[in-house]
Amino acid sequence: MGHDAINVLMGASPGADVMTKIKDVCENFPRVKGFHKFRARRVGSRIFADVHVLVDPKLSVKDSHEVATKLERRLKTKVSNLTSVVVHVEPVRRCKSGKKRQ
Ligand SMILES: [Zn+2]
Repeated sequence: MGHDAINVLMGASPGADVMTKIKDVCENFPRVKGFHKFRARRVGSRIFADVHVLVDPKLSVKDSHEVATKLERRLKTKVSNLTSVVVHVEPVRRCKSGKKRQ
C-alpha cells in the first residue's frame, strides 16, 4: 500500500494552516474560555474535526448548546472543505490541583 492509500484509510493531517485557522476561531469565539482535545484529519479533500470547548459552568444547557452550534457553523464557514466538526462543550473547572484530566 502506498502513502495515499494509507492516508485515505487513516486520515492525514489537514495541514498547519487549517489547524491554525480552526484554533484561531476557537480561541476568539465569544463565551469560549478555552479548548482542548482538538483533532482534525483530512480524508481526500474533506476535513473532519472535533474539539472540546470550555464554557462558564453557570451557562445554561440552552446557551451551551448555542455556543456549540454557532461555533460549528463558524468553523464550517471559515474552513473550506470542513465536512464535519463536532464541538463538545464542558464547564471550566476551577480546581487548582494542576492535574489535567482529559
Ligand atoms: Zn474534554
